[in-house]
Amino acid sequence: MPDQPAHADIADAATQRVAATSAITQQPTQRLPSPPQPRARKGRRWLVSVLAVVLVALVGGTTLLVSHSTTGSITQIFRPNATATPTPPQKTPLPGVTMAQRNAATGCAAGAPPPYAGLINNGRYPGTASPPLNEVALTFDDGPTPYSTPTILAFLEKTHTPATFFVEGQFADLWPTLVQREWNDGFAIGAHSWNHRNLTALAPDELQRQFSATMAAIHKALGKNMCLWLSRPPYGSAKMREITLAASYGLSTINWDDSSADWLRSGANAIAQTVLDQIRPGGIVLMHDGPAEREQTAQALPLILAGLQARGLKPVTIPQLLQDGHFPGVVVHPLPNQPTGTPPPDNVPQAWVAPQRPAGMA
Ligand SMILES: [Zn+2]
Repeated sequence: MPDQPAHADIADAATQRVAATSAITQQPTQRLPSPPQPRARKGRRWLVSVLAVVLVALVGGTTLLVSHSTTGSITQIFRPNATATPTPPQKTPLPGVTMAQRNAATGCAAGAPPPYAGLINNGRYPGTASPPLNEVALTFDDGPTPYSTPTILAFLEKTHTPATFFVEGQFADLWPTLVQREWNDGFAIGAHSWNHRNLTALAPDELQRQFSATMAAIHKALGKNMCLWLSRPPYGSAKMREITLAASYGLSTINWDDSSADWLRSGANAIAQTVLDQIRPGGIVLMHDGPAEREQTAQALPLILAGLQARGLKPVTIPQLLQDGHFPGVVVHPLPNQPTGTPPPDNVPQAWVAPQRPAGMA
């Protein structure tokens, strides 16, 4: 079942990444430290990677088309395993790491709760008799980018709409002031790998670098006392190995149960409708603020907000959703974890926008 959203997202990401990597001249994907490789071998690997991406895109696209035409409902295609019951939370710290050590590394308070040991898809803690939440969490992945994040942020700020950003390490490293703007404005921030690799396919050392380098980039932007405890795997693809390793870094793994499918670029109305068709109390909505332009996502936001309001649902951050959903130990303490320093400017310098705009994007 997890393959279904993963395939859908892979198809999206294949499209995104071909466009983005061909145009982002700084080649941030090469910034993650890795062992040197012979040039010829590297070239072959590159070729194999490109062929693999094209193949995945073709297969994924075909699957989507077939699925769409047979089911007639796009919401059935992208819905992840919302009914799965996560495993119970981990009660003890990982071997060799005390809770205090782990929390010090994440920037969280010494008494911060342990990471959740399973996959979180929504804000309803399994097994509790809690009343349904009237809350939902809007989440944005694959940023921050100067192409889309400022527009989305401006709307969320103007309407005082809480949200959560799952940022890629490479982009937090490239555009730290965007991460700072998100954080200083009160949005929650989680890690979304360094450069959007499928974590389940990585060797252990590379997998560790995806977590450690991303956490370092976020902490560099926001200060070492920024409590970083949220993580989302690229494509929503994580098995126990990845979830356990994330937990060893103090990170709880958060997926979604309501995908906007905004990467299909089906228009603002369709994106909003897709979200609202699936929305339910406690839901976690997947959207994107990168790496390609996401102007349709931005245009869909007013429609989504109006739809939520009509349903009596209130957007909150992921930490707030989990706290109110009675996930054990989650207490939102915004003040002690606020970063120090001067708030960043509201606008991204123009010099960052034009030269790196992906080619071929409208
Ligand atoms: Zn992603």
